[in-house]
Amino acid sequence: MSLIPRFLRYVQFDTQSDPHSTTYPSSKKQLELSKLLLKELIDLGIRASIDEFGYVIGKLPSNSTKKIPSIALVAHVDTSPDASGYNVLPSIVKNYDGGVIVLNKEKNIILDPSVFSNLRRHIGSDLITTDGTTLLGADDKAGVAIIMALVEYYIQNPSIPHGELVVVFTPDEEVGKGTDHLDLSKVGADFGYTLDGSAAGEIAYENFNAASAVIEFNGKSVHPGSAKHKMVNAISLAMEFDRLLSSSARPELTEKYEGFNHLHFIEGMTEVTKAEYIIRNHDKTLFQSQKDEFVRAEAFLNAKYGKNTVKVTIKDSYFNMKDLLVNHQEIIDVAKDAILAHGITPIIEPIRGGTDGARLTYMGLPCPNLGTGCYNFHGPYEYASIQEMNLSLVILKTIVEHFSL
Ligand SMILES: [Zn+2]
Repeated sequence: MSLIPRFLRYVQFDTQSDPHSTTYPSSKKQLELSKLLLKELIDLGIRASIDEFGYVIGKLPSNSTKKIPSIALVAHVDTSPDASGYNVLPSIVKNYDGGVIVLNKEKNIILDPSVFSNLRRHIGSDLITTDGTTLLGADDKAGVAIIMALVEYYIQNPSIPHGELVVVFTPDEEVGKGTDHLDLSKVGADFGYTLDGSAAGEIAYENFNAASAVIEFNGKSVHPGSAKHKMVNAISLAMEFDRLLSSSARPELTEKYEGFNHLHFIEGMTEVTKAEYIIRNHDKTLFQSQKDEFVRAEAFLNAKYGKNTVKVTIKDSYFNMKDLLVNHQEIIDVAKDAILAHGITPIIEPIRGGTDGARLTYMGLPCPNLGTGCYNFHGPYEYASIQEMNLSLVILKTIVEHFSL
């Protein structure tokens, strides 16, 4: 089955993951697609299995006598909890003219290039859109379909030499747990690529260093009528603490390589207040100095108001894969060359978040991220370019073949 029919088949499965679940995978319905993929791999003649957590791993052995590295190709089966993935009704816009696309006439939902300027680059292309009521699920079923089409291609063309290809389909990426139970010894590859990016020709190998900070403020509650020089208001402490942090390092004021501290939760009363921040920076030194700033603010307030008034607990979440990938420059260079070989300037932008590839890189499987030709993830405006999906597939073939030379 060729790439696009495969993709249209996979988006029929509702695989929304659930951030509030305590099971793994977080929703059972993801397994329906995982089991279909397992069957399709086996039907193609690939040795494949699914484990108790829902990870599908398939191995297409090397067909060369040369020593060629083993490459993992990773995509996730789940879709974002941000929008429904139930009853996805994809529709194909042929030869897009650059105008407004009506997704849903009844509900007046449109895909407008004046809102989504990335549409303008697809004039003349064929697009796959939603009916405006669900997401499309291109994130990351486009990645799944590209990987499946790739292995099918090598099975149908056995004279083309390639190294071992290890297919890895994971659940629960969208709820931040995509690699939690993955046994890398079962993957056994030398390195990998996640197929989970946007534009064809995109390669991402830099993401944030990330930490969370939980801060407890302990005040002294006294009747406000007789509070003079006695009351310490924990809510005021939290505000004072926030003012001690850099006022420009906020998500709403930063972009590209600029880091931030984001206060995303606060709850409190005069006696006790609790605040939660996330701390993000691509640069490890700057990341550390942001964390130091929290510790300094804690020390300052404790000196001012007394011991244990403020308690800061910082926990690292994930790190920038670039710091490890510098030791595996070839993986990035080969991908860049493969993109250039198809006449495209590689699109390299720092990820302002994390990826499963970043986690895999730190687990021992160096793993940059490649584009899949799809846009506007996590909502009803999601769409895929058929030409760009096909281009992403040929770029991937070029990468695999370059390592086989
Ligand atoms: Zn994704």
